[in-house]
Amino acid sequence: MMQAKVSDSVYAARGHAFLERLTKVLSPNGILTGDQIGDAFIRDWARDRIGRTLAVVRPASAQEVSQVCRLCADAGVGIVPQGGHTGLVGGAQRPEENCIILSTQRMNGILDLDCDNLSCTVEAGVVLETLQATLKEQGQQFGVAIGSQGSAQIGGLISTNAGGMQVLRHGMMAAHVMGLELVLADGSIVSSISGLHKDNRGPDPLRLAIGGEGAFGIITKACLRISPQWQCAATAYVGCASFVDALALLRHLRGAAHEVLSAFEVMSAACLPLAKRVDPTLVPPLEAPVHVLVQLGSVLDLPLDSMLEDALAAAIEQGIAADAVVAKSDRQVQRLWALREGLVEGHSRRGYHVRSDVSLRLGQLPDAVSALEAMLEAEFPGWIAQSYGHMGDGNLHFNALPPETIAETEAREIGRQIEQRIFYMVLDLDGSFSAEHGIGRTKAGWFHETMPARHDLLARIKAALDPDTMMNPGCLLVQEDGPR
Ligand SMILES: Cc1cc2nc3c(=O)[nH]c(=O)nc-3n(C[C@H](O)[C@H](O)[C@H](O)COP(=O)(O)OP(=O)(O)OC[C@H]3O[C@@H](n4cnc5c(N)ncnc54)[C@H](O)[C@@H]3O)c2cc1C
Repeated sequence: MMQAKVSDSVYAARGHAFLERLTKVLSPNGILTGDQIGDAFIRDWARDRIGRTLAVVRPASAQEVSQVCRLCADAGVGIVPQGGHTGLVGGAQRPEENCIILSTQRMNGILDLDCDNLSCTVEAGVVLETLQATLKEQGQQFGVAIGSQGSAQIGGLISTNAGGMQVLRHGMMAAHVMGLELVLADGSIVSSISGLHKDNRGPDPLRLAIGGEGAFGIITKACLRISPQWQCAATAYVGCASFVDALALLRHLRGAAHEVLSAFEVMSAACLPLAKRVDPTLVPPLEAPVHVLVQLGSVLDLPLDSMLEDALAAAIEQGIAADAVVAKSDRQVQRLWALREGLVEGHSRRGYHVRSDVSLRLGQLPDAVSALEAMLEAEFPGWIAQSYGHMGDGNLHFNALPPETIAETEAREIGRQIEQRIFYMVLDLDGSFSAEHGIGRTKAGWFHETMPARHDLLARIKAALDPDTMMNPGCLLVQEDGPR
């Protein structure tokens, strides 16, 4: 048996009776224990951490989730909700073995696609890419696109309030949620799904689950806002001399194409070799200190390619862009995006590294990148800075790769110091140390320390909904009681 799965002693302590009770309320194949638990449930996507669990339960409906919650409440066993397990802050697994993982993978139905109403009600386990493909067949689309969309599920995306590539145009996941169905710690099923765009019968308390990382309840269904499918899109890859110029380019493109501008991503040149670790055949179409990916899209049949070409020609003339390539085929578009989307995986393949997910006001980004890169070079010689991110919404991933010559334990020790420096530098600028990945377990201490008032208010709300701390204990909020 793998070291990270539940130990025999815990089975003995809990007895098989609890697992048998769970089995009875679930439809066939609804529970996995011991060696049936696949690696993907307990090892996180980045392969940074491995969790423990009593069992993995895979309910097929909200009613089954409700019964599982009741049994867990009776037995004093915590619940860790899990979607695609692509989260990057350790929220969907737990190091202690006194919880179960509740996977939503079997709740994957698209229940009601209403094109007149521009809404779609889905179960929590629907994978984002599946939703996008289904909507496309009906001439619709969903305004969230992220690198993990082949695995990330709607419940996980809502629970982390995921961002991604199109936030500057469509907003984060919260902007797409019209209503939710949630199962609370005591097993009650509550819903705010009405399908109405306007419904001001008081505030919707279930919106607490958006970005709630499973600490307030389990999302079982969501009604999502959709929009008509674009008729045309244009993608360009642009080289800039600096992040200052990249910001000037963003300003320029807003002036030229604000209504259709849907993505503005940046990467420093040092990042590109990491994308090649995922696909060695990827070649950036130009060389420059800073690489920018721009996307325009419209439901109107507009000449976006020529609009983008004209805007970029003007930018080159003004000296804010050095070179630019507008993609001429779907394959070229996909290869250009692969350079950007490969970075999370490329970093992961290289091994341990410092990962950050910070946000600042857009105007602060160029100076912040310079200051962070200078800090790394001066204080941590040999570490390689990786500055990239969703610049169009002020989100920077400033990562640091350790020198290949040092051992992982030493790298992790130094990495913690680097992480602290990044966090404090960003906080000094009134920025956020979590732009889109959430708090999870890795940042709960930071959250508690740096935002005590917000942490305390959330803890009081949680105490009202989940008095015994059974819902994802230790995630988002520092755990003071609950299962140990
Ligand atoms: C390659 C890659 C690229 C990424 N790019 C982006 C990006 O651009 N933008 C971005 O924001 N994130 C990004 N992420 C992070 C991650 O994909 C998102 O956080 C995503 O929203 C997680 O979805 P998931 O289904 O995998 O959730 P999980 O990892 O399974 O869970 C995440 C959190 O939500 C909770 N949860 C899951 N399902 C439920 C539910 N039904 N009810 C209550 N709580 C639940 C879990 O307990 C956990 O706390 C990326 C990750 C990878 C690996």
